[in-house]
Amino acid sequence: MDSLETELERARALDESELADAIETIGFECTRCGACCKAESACGESGESVDEASDVADGPSGKTEPAETDAEPHTATVFPDEIRQLQAVGEYDFRDVARPMPYGLADGPDGPEGETFEWALQTDDCGDCTFYTEDDDGTGACTVHGDRPLICRTYPFSVALGGTSQPMGEAVDEEGMVRAHECEGLGRDISRADAEELAAALKERAVRELTEAIGVRDNYRPVDQSDGQVVVYDSEGAKRPDGSPYE
Ligand code: SF4
Ligand code: SF4
Repeated sequence: MDSLETELERARALDESELADAIETIGFECTRCGACCKAESACGESGESVDEASDVADGPSGKTEPAETDAEPHTATVFPDEIRQLQAVGEYDFRDVARPMPYGLADGPDGPEGETFEWALQTDDCGDCTFYTEDDDGTGACTVHGDRPLICRTYPFSVALGGTSQPMGEAVDEEGMVRAHECEGLGRDISRADAEELAAALKERAVRELTEAIGVRDNYRPVDQSDGQVVVYDSEGAKRPDGSPYE
């Protein structure tokens, strides 16, 4: 199996021009439908509240996987430095921005418990990303657009490096090393400049994800969480759900 370091080398060697070619071939223009920022079902549509949706899709870091319940909350990976950047935008508390990645956590008597890796963007009561807003006509917008995480800047694309890191969910289209994921804006014309911008962000994300994964592996020091707490391991070590470090 390829090591993370090998994959990182491969990511650093990605040719942005080739990635841009692939993006141009697939085509993309965001329609601002909001599907990649929201829970799988609109608030009130499902008979099940988001809190009751315990079957978390077993997926890689990334956008929401196809849900096993139709109340699956939005789940997108956000890295520690991205959380700090988002906090600075609105003087937000850590928990306003991020929540423990739900994969691996169990339902305890007082809420989730166990250990997990990485953080997800915080969600609202509807399971939508906390930074998502919508006009009366249903047009979506991101309130932190200029500071949104790499996963959002590159959606609906990922790069398949062919190693241990997994692109997000099932691909619906592919060209070269670029994979495209479910999105109604696929297949639309894209300018070369926009394709190049996306390609650069895709490469940055691939490098960033692998750097982070190496950091998680190297800084992993198990902490005792027998008292039913949640421990989040990220590249900076073990943290509580409010982002503070375990000593
Ligand atoms: S799913 Fe696609 S078209 Fe819809 S908001 Fe996301 S990127 Fe834009
Ligand atoms: S941060 Fe912005 S782009 Fe990313 S999921 Fe939230 S609303 Fe969508």
